[in-house]
Amino acid sequence: MYFDKVEELDRNELEKLQVERLKKTIEQASNSPYYSEVFKNNNIDSSLIKTADDIKKLPFTTKEDLRSQYPYGLLTKSLDEFVRLHASSGTTGTPTAVFYTQKDLDTWADLMARSMYAVGVRRSDVLQNMSGYGLFTGGLGIHYGSERLGCLTVPAGAGNTKRQIKLIRDFNVTTLHIIPSFALYFAGKVKAEGYDPAEMPWKIALIGAEPHTELTRKKIEEMLHIKAYNSYGLSEMNGPGVAFECTEQDGMHIWEDSFIAEIINPETGEHVPDGEIGELVMTTITREGMPIIRYRTRDLTRFIPGKCKCGRTSRRIDRIAGRADDMLIIKGVNIYPMQIEKIIMAIPEVGENYLIELYREGFIDQIKVKVEIKEQYFVEDMRALQGLQKLIANKLRDEILVTPRVELVQHNSIEKSEGKAQRVIDTREVEK
Ligand code: ADP
Ligand code: ZN
Repeated sequence: MYFDKVEELDRNELEKLQVERLKKTIEQASNSPYYSEVFKNNNIDSSLIKTADDIKKLPFTTKEDLRSQYPYGLLTKSLDEFVRLHASSGTTGTPTAVFYTQKDLDTWADLMARSMYAVGVRRSDVLQNMSGYGLFTGGLGIHYGSERLGCLTVPAGAGNTKRQIKLIRDFNVTTLHIIPSFALYFAGKVKAEGYDPAEMPWKIALIGAEPHTELTRKKIEEMLHIKAYNSYGLSEMNGPGVAFECTEQDGMHIWEDSFIAEIINPETGEHVPDGEIGELVMTTITREGMPIIRYRTRDLTRFIPGKCKCGRTSRRIDRIAGRADDMLIIKGVNIYPMQIEKIIMAIPEVGENYLIELYREGFIDQIKVKVEIKEQYFVEDMRALQGLQKLIANKLRDEILVTPRVELVQHNSIEKSEGKAQRVIDTREVEK
């Protein structure tokens, strides 16, 4: 049924395992220059931990802490012991580097294989990895997991749609790993090349690495004629394979035998009540080379209460609502890009891509949303398009409480990056 027996461990057993591994992690972490200092200053050692809840006694680690320790400050072993490094894509500033020993890479590959198994991928499958390789963990992370599971693995990398399609057809690719914003673009291209998605060999898409709404998932599923599963991870916690959907598509199971997850109120640092949204905080408990304790991910989500129908006992998180630092403030109102995506992707005329532009006019903040329209609607008469523009603006106003300007643009006219999508362009600072 499951890839690993630990997936059905009862909660008490699982917590016991977490406590044991957390203690070991503290001991291991104290070999790093950074944590040895932090632990000394705060009188911390593993004897503090008796129950899983005692994790609250440990200090948080922030992205700034990692940056200040760049590059080697968190390593618990001599450099000789390490075999790989990755760096975060730097979506929000200077990158941070993460180092892995061979054992760490093996653990990661197992977690990744387990994740793929949970959505029905088996060794007989052929997996095409369509995300960029290099420092981005979505490349090698998925790659080694796929090999660990025993899949024939096609390291296609990002971009070059025509070649991707050829590889998929030539090698009967059944499973795609693809970033959601690229999946929408790709789906459009597949049709434009004259292929019927229903005739393609694929069955399963692993999508993740960036926030997207349920409607975007549905759109990907319909356009590609595929089942799409959400995959969550971050370089600081290895990369992908931290939390993954199962075939129920009802939240992402956190692999709690390897990570302890908490959800806190970002202002107070206290745990929020179960089911409430807050900032996800993660602790590695199986990483030896570079353990990280109570890492503030800045990702906003909630625990989904109750048990999953699949029988796995690990808790689930809801899809990421956004990053704390994605929040836009316009005319004093807080807005998350995902609120905008949720509205526009529900409108049938809307195509695959959008862009939010923030700028200043005089002293007033303005928000403009550029929305790609499906080809068949773009040829409609002016009045119909104006009506659509107005409809989108009104729906957005109801959601975000600010009336945006809406610009309808042609299919494929917004520039598409090969990696994570850039959804927001904010020119307000420069105009000051
Ligand atoms: P960077 O922080 O530079 O983007 P990473 O490649 O480590 O570098 O990205 C990790 C981040 O990507 C996560 O913290 C989260 O914000 C985002 N992310 C990853 N997977 C998902 C997902 N399934 N849904 C939403 N956001 C995701
Ligand atoms: Zn499940």
